[in-house]
Amino acid sequence: MNAVTYELIKTCKQTGARLGRVHTPHGSFETPVFMPVGTLATVKTMSPEELKEIGAHMILSNTYHLWLRPGEDIVKEAGGLHQFMNWDGSILTDSGGFQVFSLSDLRDIEEAGVHFRNHISGEKLFLSPEKAMEIQNALGADIMMAFDECPPYPAEHKYMKDSVERTSRWAERCLTAHQRAHDQGLFGIVQGGEYEDLRRQSAKDLTSLDFPGYAIGGLSVGEPKDVMNRVLEFTTPLLPDSKPRYLMGVGSPDSLIDGSIRGIDMFDCVLPTRIARNGTCMTSNGRLVVRNAKFALDFSPLDPNCDCHTCQNYSRAYIRHLIKADETFGLRLTTYHNLYFLVKLMEQVREAIKADRLGDFREEFFEQYGFNKPNAKNF
Ligand SMILES: [Zn+2]
Repeated sequence: MNAVTYELIKTCKQTGARLGRVHTPHGSFETPVFMPVGTLATVKTMSPEELKEIGAHMILSNTYHLWLRPGEDIVKEAGGLHQFMNWDGSILTDSGGFQVFSLSDLRDIEEAGVHFRNHISGEKLFLSPEKAMEIQNALGADIMMAFDECPPYPAEHKYMKDSVERTSRWAERCLTAHQRAHDQGLFGIVQGGEYEDLRRQSAKDLTSLDFPGYAIGGLSVGEPKDVMNRVLEFTTPLLPDSKPRYLMGVGSPDSLIDGSIRGIDMFDCVLPTRIARNGTCMTSNGRLVVRNAKFALDFSPLDPNCDCHTCQNYSRAYIRHLIKADETFGLRLTTYHNLYFLVKLMEQVREAIKADRLGDFREEFFEQYGFNKPNAKNF
């Protein structure tokens, strides 16, 4: 029996989007779902109690960052990540691969793994499939990810082919090294960039290894939205219906809806929390930069259609003042709202799938948010 299982409840007759349920050792939740990112075992500025209140069921933490600080041994000694951070919901850890490839300029990829420098101290480090499994087994998340290479966009076909083949060999080594299959589900990551033949090859290699779930990696790395949508269109049908599908690093409202329409069940992204700390909010009427001077005397809520704690109690003028004055409470209020907004958006997506009208919901949402306007921003 796998530690993580998926139940398909229904597909939307209008779009083919999936309504499902993921079961993990720390609870079950309906999908499609958005997972807030807690890089260093904390979703920046939010307490686990607040995350619960918002309605988050699963959060993501980063293996690379926790490996460097405080070190997986300390987390293990605390009783694992759930105990350490006092979060009894589900947790997913990534493999560290993405950070190694994105944060470090000095790296050397070989069959055994990757040599690189610690982005904080400059110290030489080595990460391999076996090491990524050892760290993630010590952290003890419900879902862990296979160690992969995430090439930049664009990458040449020849480079991508070699990379996909190595990622498949690494995935097999991850399965062998994984010590806790009974209580941690290991997901494989389909790579291949924009190339259909390579996505096909990657999906074939990985599904033959029978992981309990599959991620689609290598998207949201700078490619245009239509490229992402096209890749999803030919990739999700290559994955088994009986396993969850996770699109890594995607969290703008339009992409959450468009990804769900293309059969994705799980999403994560730093976008809502990162822009919140910069004074930018997602609202039902589009993007709102609350730092702007025009809100100095605006005593209305961030989003008049939102019933979150922030919108029920605090005004744009007050939040603008806090952020301008570098008061951390301002960042808590915007972060709370943005996460609530995306959690609610996914609830609406699931309701629309139940009613077989996700296509109509997409049209209504895009119209109100302003995605249909020329020069519309992505979030
Ligand atoms: Zn709100």
